[in-house]
Amino acid sequence: MNKRSIALYLTIIGLLLILVSGWYISAFVNQDAESITFDGTRAYEDVRAQVEMGSRAPGTEGHAQVVEYIRAELEAAGWIVEFHNSERMGHPIQNVIAKRVDSAPLILLGAHYDTRFVADHDPDQSKRAEPVPGANDGASGVAVLLELARTLPADSVPVWLVFFDAEDNGRIEGWDWILGSRAFVEEVEVSPRAMVLVDMIGDADLNIYLEKNSDEKIRAEIWLTAEELGYGDQFINEEKFSMLDDHTPFLEKGIPAVDIIDFDYPYWHTVSDTTDKVSAESLHAVGDTLWHWVTSQLP
Ligand SMILES: [Zn+2]
Repeated sequence: MNKRSIALYLTIIGLLLILVSGWYISAFVNQDAESITFDGTRAYEDVRAQVEMGSRAPGTEGHAQVVEYIRAELEAAGWIVEFHNSERMGHPIQNVIAKRVDSAPLILLGAHYDTRFVADHDPDQSKRAEPVPGANDGASGVAVLLELARTLPADSVPVWLVFFDAEDNGRIEGWDWILGSRAFVEEVEVSPRAMVLVDMIGDADLNIYLEKNSDEKIRAEIWLTAEELGYGDQFINEEKFSMLDDHTPFLEKGIPAVDIIDFDYPYWHTVSDTTDKVSAESLHAVGDTLWHWVTSQLP
């Protein structure tokens, strides 16, 4: 072998090395990009798992099961889980708080995990004493928060995920709406830059209008993010409903809060609020929007 062929030989080996290492690095980068993407299908599995537990109304077996499920999923995703225990109107309240690091939240994302005792809005009168399955009203918001826990990068601004208890039993003797979030705001000292609530966001026919009481600036930011991601059909840039929901106690305390809710849901508080009414695509549209909005926040 002469000098020239040795040089050629080394050049070929060098090029091959560059090629192989390039492929190797790109394979890893792609894998990373995939693992941090919000997965609507995985969120849909969280909806299914919750509905299989039956009623998650306060005091039921399903209520205890869903708390355990939320805790286990959050811990598996590397979050610190704490419970805020309290009592309202003689009922125990258990809110679940998740944080990645032990610091105050800049952003607080919330959802209620309980379901309504009775389907008193069902068109069939004989079914109005049955519990609500809560695939959309309960499970969908929890599912989006759990999938965000799995996918938000560890270096995002400090986020708390709060799963509220006892939201959904207003107009029932001895109960009221939003007991869990009221207890939380009254007893847990937080002053986040923004509180964002997700409630009933899994409807396969998703139409989320601007909620009238929500903070206008943050509302606009989130709707713009959705539009940029191609979810302009699901996030409609018009006001429609005015809600009393878990964002209300935050607003009353002066914390900018937004309610992301699709209140055009024909199965609301009926026995037909089941998994077939919810879609992975809808969960993805909301989760992906929140993922991008949170990760765009500057410290
Ligand atoms: Zn409800």
